[in-house]
Amino acid sequence: MYEIEIIAHFSAAHRLREYKGKCEQLHGHNYRVHVAVRAHSPGKGGMVIDFIELKEISGEVLDRLDHRFLNDQPPFDKIEPSAENVAAHIFEEIARRMGTRAGMLHSISVWESETSRATFMRD
Ligand SMILES: [Zn+2]
Repeated sequence: MYEIEIIAHFSAAHRLREYKGKCEQLHGHNYRVHVAVRAHSPGKGGMVIDFIELKEISGEVLDRLDHRFLNDQPPFDKIEPSAENVAAHIFEEIARRMGTRAGMLHSISVWESETSRATFMRD
């Protein structure tokens, strides 16, 4: 099994509506996102997926969140913009852009700080 991963970043503000404590207040994070793709064997050219292509796809998705107030952006106008939900949303959006290769997308990890992350992955 091979796994390749790229790391990307975006900055955004949010507030957790259903949380009692500091995080219910408006605040921001410099999010770090790890995008992992797995395959049993590398494809053409010995690559699971071209790093450049994966960075482009990830960049398209993260650009839509960058420097935004997440609570105003669908689906976070309806659901909590927690790290878990942000990870699941990014997973869905990247998978959609990968088309027939979506099954290779393994996990999305969203780091809110150097010490705190949430990961969404396939079972
Ligand atoms: Zn937060």
